[in-house]
Amino acid sequence: MMTSMDSFPRRVAENILPLSVAETLPAAFREWHFTGETVDHEIPEETCRLCDKEGLRYHFEIRNDQTGHRLDVGSECILKFQVAVFDEGRELGPDEARNALAERMRQMRLESCLRALERLAGVEANDILSNALAYYRLHKSLTPKFANVVFWRLQANSIDHDPTFFKVRLDKASYVTDLGAMRQRNVHRIWRALTSAQRKKAIALGHSAPPE
Ligand SMILES: [Zn+2]
Repeated sequence: MMTSMDSFPRRVAENILPLSVAETLPAAFREWHFTGETVDHEIPEETCRLCDKEGLRYHFEIRNDQTGHRLDVGSECILKFQVAVFDEGRELGPDEARNALAERMRQMRLESCLRALERLAGVEANDILSNALAYYRLHKSLTPKFANVVFWRLQANSIDHDPTFFKVRLDKASYVTDLGAMRQRNVHRIWRALTSAQRKKAIALGHSAPPE
């Protein structure tokens, strides 16, 4: 366990102590909690205000109960330094906190996919795209056929999106049949959205992995 100042990187101490009442770590961390506020900056170029790590896409806000100071940090630092995470007034244990932050991350990715789909449905008046958006809102995933059209049109319209955030359903025989019948290049188009098990399934159906 982290028990002495020596356990903490100097920059972490330099960032948090001036905003806290306690003058040592880890005591100062006990004044802080995750507020529940998060920001998706869309591109990974933000900095964790605690450890100075760069390349963050998501900020999680922590607040000092006594000084009122707020800091935008990465979720890893919340877990690493055991900043309190609450759910309906109850402080979560370490595993619960990890799950809660992971769930928040999933939610932000889902919202990012929805924004891309909404933008797409806005620029192209097309029944397939509005059906894909309605389907995604309902199921939080796409069928292989929807995924193919969605990624094709997102790329064609240069709409920023991360294909790995989308989920593709293969839990019905008809979706597997559709995937098997897809043209190779269309399978490659949706490849990054497939899980490793789904990729194996695609290969078992006669497709090949896209070239690196
Ligand atoms: Zn950090």
